[in-house]
Amino acid sequence: MRRSDTERARARLVERHVKARGITDERILAAMGSVKRERYVPAAMEAFAYDDHPLPIGEGQTISQPFIVALMADAAQIVSGDRVLEVGAGSGYGAAVLAQLAAEVWTIERLEPLAELARKNLERDGVENVHVVVGDGTLGWPVEAPFDAIVVTAGGPEVPHALLDQLAVGGRLVMPTGSDRHNQALIRVVRLHDQPLEDAFSEEELGLVRFVPLIGAQGWDH
Ligand code: SAH
Repeated sequence: MRRSDTERARARLVERHVKARGITDERILAAMGSVKRERYVPAAMEAFAYDDHPLPIGEGQTISQPFIVALMADAAQIVSGDRVLEVGAGSGYGAAVLAQLAAEVWTIERLEPLAELARKNLERDGVENVHVVVGDGTLGWPVEAPFDAIVVTAGGPEVPHALLDQLAVGGRLVMPTGSDRHNQALIRVVRLHDQPLEDAFSEEELGLVRFVPLIGAQGWDH
């Protein structure tokens, strides 16, 4: 696709699949309208970069559907000074969108080849406020905690305790959860106060989604 064509395709995606489906926050629309998704998909998939679908990125994983990326970013209520943790770097696309909204983003990926891919894509796209790290994201990234927002881009049986511990007071966590490895409910958890731990969090359901499984110590078995 020529440059003007990809720009038009991106604007159309934002209009038809993000704005038309109820995302009205101008900052989210601007972020979705500026991150070049074609830079985060395999070369052979570039023609489909602006379809509202997940696409394969290797290692059995996928780049998330654009509407869902926007929905999660919106639900995380990120403001410009925020420090954000993303679990599941994958292609780096979701982190690039979060990076437009936040001050700094840490994105953790369990598969080394995908962490490399995310790093390469983000570098090529000129994104400077994302740190890609390798590890089990169900344990969070304690050295940089607490986070104002945590966005988990893989589905687990429940919200990992480590992630709740690493959420700042007032912080939002958005994650697909449920007892099925491939179908989940998207939930938002807000940390209301420091303690006692049991009633320090509010939880609400935002809709049904389909994500790849979250694999790790506080996720699914490999
Ligand atoms: N945000 C990504 C979505 C990638 S799909 C994007 O925009 O492209 C989810 C990713 O989560 C996969 O790359 C998968 O390898 C990763 N993942 C699954 N379990 C994980 C865990 N415990 N820690 C870190 N990453 C994990």
